[in-house]
Amino acid sequence: MTRTDTTGAPAPAAASFASLPLPPAMQANLQQLGYLAMTPIQAASLPLALAGADLIAQAKTGSGKTAAFTLPLLANLNPRRFAVQALVLCPTRELAEQVTQEIRRLARAEDNIKTLTLCGGAPIRNQLASLAHGAHIVVGTPGRILDHLSRDTLALDALNTLVLDEADRMLDMGFAEDIAQVVERCPKARQTLLFSATYPEGVAKLAGRFMRDPKEVKLTERHAETKIRQQFYEVKDSERLHAVSLLLKHFRPISTLAFCNTKQQCRDLVAVLQAQGFTALELHGDLDQRERDQVLVRFANRSCSVLVATDVAARGLDIAQLEAVINVDITPDPEVHVHRVGRTGRADAEGWAFSLASLDEMGSVGRIDEMQGRPSEWHPLSELADAADAPPLLPPMVTLQILGGRKEKIRPGDVLGALTKDLGFDGSKIGKINVNDFSTYVAVDRSIADAALRGLSAGKVKGRSVKVRPL
Ligand code: ADP
Ligand code: MG
Repeated sequence: MTRTDTTGAPAPAAASFASLPLPPAMQANLQQLGYLAMTPIQAASLPLALAGADLIAQAKTGSGKTAAFTLPLLANLNPRRFAVQALVLCPTRELAEQVTQEIRRLARAEDNIKTLTLCGGAPIRNQLASLAHGAHIVVGTPGRILDHLSRDTLALDALNTLVLDEADRMLDMGFAEDIAQVVERCPKARQTLLFSATYPEGVAKLAGRFMRDPKEVKLTERHAETKIRQQFYEVKDSERLHAVSLLLKHFRPISTLAFCNTKQQCRDLVAVLQAQGFTALELHGDLDQRERDQVLVRFANRSCSVLVATDVAARGLDIAQLEAVINVDITPDPEVHVHRVGRTGRADAEGWAFSLASLDEMGSVGRIDEMQGRPSEWHPLSELADAADAPPLLPPMVTLQILGGRKEKIRPGDVLGALTKDLGFDGSKIGKINVNDFSTYVAVDRSIADAALRGLSAGKVKGRSVKVRPL
């Protein structure tokens, strides 16, 4: 196996896409999308993948992995051949949909490339109809893809690129066997690209089963130390959850992702925080898709201060603005710790990473120190004592849910228009607008929340009265 380990090496100075063997239409499209320079993982993997090599690539969430496999799969694709030539396996519907969107944006340089999403949770019947129309690229979850393969509603004879995206998470979710069965149905002569945020042993094993002399590209994280301030606090187990509330009240971050090692700890923390007046939500595997979407919308639009999750539940989340990460429990795996902490301090913003450690966890902290190559910075919990009397932390925005969405042909502009043109609210007071199939979520500044709720309830959106409620 050849390894390109760029750990510690200076980031390649803004490598340009122009150095890649891509057609001019694709170069122009990348420019239009604002992709002016390659991200480090793209710079490390694209030359190898475009040359046809199998690839194992590891880089953190938000580093641009989708384009790193999409450009090679498009290069392998013949648009005039109307058959599935690329398959991308993803762990969840949500991620499959994100990947599909990104592929469509990148594929618009070529005429008429059809990309289809096949995931569980959606009716098979609709998928059969779409498949009957044909597609060049299929993105889906392993279970549902296997389902179509066994019904013979999906054929992979013409496949030339197989992508495993978020391989670590697919393994966590128990997809190893399904993946192996899907791979068995793929032609042997193909390019296989495996992408992962972390590189646990299971992923190496999976890769060993069906990759051909893969090149390995690892961008192990080194956080710019000035961007992320890491602080450790020693706590007794009995103080741990209260310490989270002290941290929040003292540092007052707008958005915080809190990691726990177990689901029970997540539940307990959310209960404690909610009882103290925080807006805290839990992201866990038992939520149905609609509930999960709603939690993520509320967190991303800044109307929920704290999102509490286990590592598995948070994997693959891409949250742009995150002021703080709290390690409520220390993870025994130092690589996971570094990955958790790297969620904050994105895109040159500053971030806090707080870790609460009991004496029992000092062994794990030692391994983290070793991996980070420096000792942790410790602070006494008593430093935060004053925060106990601080006012509760309120999120700047409030989410209003409009009952009506894509099915009613509502678009974000309709909601923005209703609030600004019809009701006269200042545009700067309106935040993110997310239109889902049956619901629309609009974030409004806390100061206008009541008035906006009354106004929307009494007025019209897209010429119709709508039901609105605050979340
Ligand atoms: P990952 O899969 O590593 O989590 P994504 O592929 O989802 O990351 O990319 C994260 C974001 O960065 C997306 O919004 C994508 O459009 C954007 N992006 C990717 N590559 C570039 C680039 N070279 N220049 C600018 N933006 C990029
Ligand atoms: Mg991704």
